[in-house]
Amino acid sequence: MKLDLVFPVNGRCYALRMSDTIFHKIIRKEISATVAYEDDEVLAFHDIHPKAPTHLLFIPKHFIASIADVTPDTAYIPGMLILKAQAFAKQKRIDGYQLKFHVGKGGGQEVPYLHLHFLSEQTLPK
Ligand code: AMP
Repeated sequence: MKLDLVFPVNGRCYALRMSDTIFHKIIRKEISATVAYEDDEVLAFHDIHPKAPTHLLFIPKHFIASIADVTPDTAYIPGMLILKAQAFAKQKRIDGYQLKFHVGKGGGQEVPYLHLHFLSEQTLPK
């Protein structure tokens, strides 16, 4: 976890985690989410305001704020999210879906933690 500001007060050291987002808290299980899939690299959970019968968010456990912050070292992460979403869809027999990355405020990104929207008109099997 990135510590953005560390400062002393009365001999004690305090840290502010400016980069902490709601998705960090979901990964740490401090906030509950309806998890659809999880492994060592990725968590997928249901969007709290679904825009389709199935609307999941795939997030990497390695934090990156946005596609705009991807570097050659981290370029594998968006591809990994796509592959996890593809495997999830196959396993759930969903054959039609949309995958979207919102990039930056102008691109509709509200949560500064890289996430892949998975939307489908099909519902998940029970
Ligand atoms: P974006 O606009 O691309 O940043 O998408 C962020 C998405 O996160 C939105 O579709 C929100 O509905 C969703 N969202 C925000 N908070 C939560 C939460 N606690 N659990 C699940 N989804 C959330």
